[in-house]
Amino acid sequence: MSGYTCQNEACEAILEAGRRLYLRGLVASNDGNISARMEDGSVWATPTGVSKGYMTRDMLVHLSAEGELLEGSLRASSEIAMHLLVYRKNPALAGVVHAHGPAATAYATLGKPFDLAISLESAVQLGVVPCAPYAVTGSPALAASAAQYCMEYNAAFLEQHGAVSWGKDVMQALFRTESLEHSIVTYSHMLALGEVRLLTKAQIADLQAVRERFGITTGGIPRGRE
Ligand SMILES: [Zn+2]
Repeated sequence: MSGYTCQNEACEAILEAGRRLYLRGLVASNDGNISARMEDGSVWATPTGVSKGYMTRDMLVHLSAEGELLEGSLRASSEIAMHLLVYRKNPALAGVVHAHGPAATAYATLGKPFDLAISLESAVQLGVVPCAPYAVTGSPALAASAAQYCMEYNAAFLEQHGAVSWGKDVMQALFRTESLEHSIVTYSHMLALGEVRLLTKAQIADLQAVRERFGITTGGIPRGRE
């Protein structure tokens, strides 16, 4: 099972990811949540009701793999149930980031996957991004809806809500959140220009070798043009 060996490192990664999410406008107000899995299976996570841009170490909560509070004076966000289910399903993951980036959230209202090879980066880092069917925020149904994709994909939209990404650590999960937002912004600009020109199928096939070099085996192959 993947996991952080150092509690300080895990907590610092969460605090840094929170600042970056907030400063980049990927969350507003108290939105979003971040977690890191430890080697022993326990999880450090962001609390409810706190801006992710202004968190301090004492605000973070330490939970068992089942979600019982081990340390901390605040309550964990109800959306952490989604994180815990992701960790339970995929032992290779040690970081989860849930955000409400405006472009990704707008795309999530469509309730469909993003499967277009619009750029080198999106084809390599993300591949196809599925959309988890709508469920009430913080509910077991939302956790199940999102976590079903954590074995095969790098990120998922949450219909009418936002997006969630995961990775071998918090930074990889954060970078996937950033890549997804960037991809949908780029796609929106293409639509505004009046033409969406995808990579060719041959270019996408070449990129699979690049993905293998980076050790990226998840995400599937996005659609290209002839
Ligand atoms: Zn949310």
